[in-house]
Parts: sequence; structure tokens; C-alpha cells
Amino acid sequence: MNLPLIIRAEEHSEKIAIATTDGSFTYRDLLHTSSQIATNLLQNTEDLQEKRVAFLIPPGFEYVATQWGIWRAGGIAVPLCVSHPRPELEYVITNSGASIIVAHPDFEGILRSLPPQASLAEEHNLRFILTSETLPSNIARLPEVDITRRALILYTSGTTGKPKGVVTTHQNIQAQVTSLNTAWEWTSNDRILHILPLHHIHGIINVLTCALWAGAECHLLSKFDAETVWRRLGDGNLTLFMAVPTIYVKLITAWENASKERQKIMSEGCAKMRLMVSGSAALPVQVLEKWQTISGHFLLERYGMTEIGMALSNPLHGERLAGYVGKPLPEVEVRLVDENGLVSAGTPGEIQVKGPGVFLEYWQNPEATAKAFQDGWFCTGDTAVIENGSYRILGRMSVDIIKTGGYKVSALEIEEVLRSHPDIQECAVVGVADIEWGERVCAALVLQGSQPLTLESFRSWAKERLAVYKVPTQILIVEELPRNAMGKVIKPTVVELFK
Ligand code: AMP
Repeated sequence: MNLPLIIRAEEHSEKIAIATTDGSFTYRDLLHTSSQIATNLLQNTEDLQEKRVAFLIPPGFEYVATQWGIWRAGGIAVPLCVSHPRPELEYVITNSGASIIVAHPDFEGILRSLPPQASLAEEHNLRFILTSETLPSNIARLPEVDITRRALILYTSGTTGKPKGVVTTHQNIQAQVTSLNTAWEWTSNDRILHILPLHHIHGIINVLTCALWAGAECHLLSKFDAETVWRRLGDGNLTLFMAVPTIYVKLITAWENASKERQKIMSEGCAKMRLMVSGSAALPVQVLEKWQTISGHFLLERYGMTEIGMALSNPLHGERLAGYVGKPLPEVEVRLVDENGLVSAGTPGEIQVKGPGVFLEYWQNPEATAKAFQDGWFCTGDTAVIENGSYRILGRMSVDIIKTGGYKVSALEIEEVLRSHPDIQECAVVGVADIEWGERVCAALVLQGSQPLTLESFRSWAKERLAVYKVPTQILIVEELPRNAMGKVIKPTVVELFK
């Protein structure tokens, strides 16, 4: 039996699946190219047997065909982030134990760094495939992949240093996708504009896979650009849009800077859509209100996480509450727990989640996996309260988790990198509240030696080692860090220093 996602695609074969600036591709194209890619990956073997295949491809048809090719060959897809510097890419490749890398030629350089640095592929004994290579014309017999097998590893930051690989099976993904397809009433007539990163759950599951499961059209932009997005929204032929609050803030700014005439076209385009969604970070009520005046849409806010898919959502029909994330989605069980056990409505507690969409494990980390569950419930580390029958997110339980522009980053991971700077003796990284970014990454630094440190030189040093969204936007040079009696840095006090 083929994977259900493939069987469903066969039912829509003449419909457009992916539209990009390079052209439109039907479900038939996607099925054909992904079977060629699967054949190439298999190289005369019968089944990749959950080998990890890392891929670094910009958003577009090749990305999607490669992801499906990996699945159809029985492999585990490990998407790499196009904006990550070499050390972060290397971490994911090494940690996942990838044995094949598929790369777009634009990224050949970074993955095969020039001598004297040995190439990543050689260092890790990897098979290296470029997307520009000719694909085989004879399609191999593809393996039967059971839905209980592992499908995807996405890297996500936690409170303990380095990111962890979140493993989901085909069954988990299917549950996450069908829950959203049902709740938000996806159909094959939908057309969604995709502007989100493709190494994160929001872009991969909520937008791309939900669209393809429904037989809908997914219009992929190669990168986010407010003007281009507004042009597409203004065309008025899309039905759905999903983004993080930071993107809505950028779109509001672009709308405000447009002429009255343009503003009218932009707003009318939005009014023709059936649903606009926000998530991955708290949506400030003032952003929601502003967007409503611009677009006529009361944004549907939802809450979810890489490990669980989406858990809570405001309703598609019926009243949506500003500042609330609604109720549990279909097939998802949610409870709130504090140190005394289950809490009643009106009392804050940790969000815990159970259901078929909850991930299988942290990759090769049974200890972290066991710690993340309590009696079979996944502990999210977020607190919420139920008011008027709707959940309101109160925040994260750890100050060391920062959400910036929809990305979850670990303060500890950044601190670890900063401490390797020759002029930095000690540091404390914190998230400082910001209307556009949700939180901004800021760093208080204690220097060693007599070298002065400028923000510019510090940031360019950090950019070579950290993804751009993890590079602190502001630094403060301090004599010493505030500590409690136990010697632990008092992060709320550090946050205050930046205000
Ligand atoms: P990620 O796994 O990167 O999607 O990050 C998941 C985290 O994002 C959650 O644990 C929350 O802390 C945060 N998050 C997601 N959606 C929302 C929301 N609607 N409001 C507030 N925080 C959110």
C-alpha cells in the first residue's frame, strides 16, 4: 500500500499542486518527479529503511518533490534551514546521522566548503546529490511504507543547550494534517500563499502538507517579501493565508506606506479570502485589531508546537476571542496541570497534550523523551488559563526559551556560542518584549581583556556561527551579571537592564 498522501494525490493528478515563479506543477508532476527522486535515492536498494536524508533546497517544486521522494523511498526527511550558517547545518547533519544530502546548487558551496576545510560530505561519509543532476527515467519499484514508520525530523530548541530532533511518523503527520483539514475545512478548491520557512512545522505541516492532503494549490514564494505578498493578496485569487505575528506586523507597515489607491486593492484582495490564520507566537491584540481594519479579517489564532502539531484553535465559524487561542482541535486532548494536579477553569496550569499527532521521540535521546511526558501526556512548558471556555496563553515556564519572529530559540544555546568569543568572559541571553518580533534576542556581556567590543563586530562574528534570528540585536556590556544567593543569573533582572 502506498502512503495515504500519495494515494490522495493520485485522485487529483491533473490539478495544480505547486505554483512558483518557475511555473505550475500538477499532482501528476509531483508524483512523477518524486518517484524519480526516490529511484535515485534508492540506488538499486529496495527500501531506505529510515535512513536520514538531509536536504537543503529553497522553497519551490524541487523542495516538495524531494521531500516526497525521501518518503516514497522509505527514508526520514531532515529539512535543513536555508539561512543557517555552516556550524548549525553541520550539527543537524551530524546529530541526525544523515547518510545522504540533497542540495540545490546554490548551497553546494556551503555544504562542500572549499579546502583546506574538508567538505562536510567527506567528513561525514555522506552521499551528496545535487538537484541539478539528471534524474533516472526508469522508475524503480518503490517500497511499501507503513504509516507507523518515522517520516520527519525537525530540530527545535529546548531548555537544555543544543536543539533536539523531533521525530514524527507518517501517522503523526497524518493526524496533525487531518485535524486541521477538518477544523479549518480545507477543500481541493483552496489556494494558499506559502511564505513560511520550510524547516519548521508551521510551513511544512500547516501550510504545505495540509494543502497537498486536501488536493489544494500551494503557491510558494521563494522568500518572504512584503511587497510581493501584497501583490499576490491584492490579485484576489487566494483563499487562505497563514503567518506568524511578525509577518503581519511587516505587512501592516507595507500597507500603511502604500498609496490610498493601492491600499484599496490590497484590502479588497484580502476580503475575497476565506481564512487568515496567525500562530507560532502570541498575537498582540493591537496587531489583530489593526489587521482587522486593513483586511476585514479577524485573524484566527491557534496554538501548537513542533512536538504536538496544532493543539488549540479559535473556531472557523463562531466567535473568535482576541488574546485567546480557543479550544482543543479535533483528535487532540488538552489538560492544564499545576503542582497539585489538574486545575479548574480560571486557574493557570501547564498545557499538557495527548493524541495521535503527538511526536514519537526526540531523535536518539530517550532520556529527554521520557522527561517530556507525564503519564502519557506531553508537557509543553507553556502555561495557560481557561476563561469563558477558551484557552489564554500566559507564557512559557522557562525564561530560557525565547520566541522571536515565530522561531523558538534557546538562550542557553546562544550563550554557549557567545562564550566561545575570545573577548567574552560571561554572558546572559534574554528575550525582551517587542511588538514586531514578539521577543528580541538581547545579550548582557562581561568582557575579558582590554579589547573594546562593538555591536557591529560582535554581530558579524555571531552571524558566522548562529542563524540570523539567534544573533542578539542588542548588547549591554556589564561589570558583572546579577545573581541570586545560589549564584544563578537572575534573568528577569537582566531583562530589566535592556528596558
Ligand atoms: P515551535 O515548536 O517552534 O512551533 O514553538 C512552539 C512554541 O511557540 C509553543 O510552545 C509556544 O511557546 C509558542 N506558541 C505557539 N503558538 C502560540 C500562540 N498562539 N500564542 C503564544 N505562544 C505560542
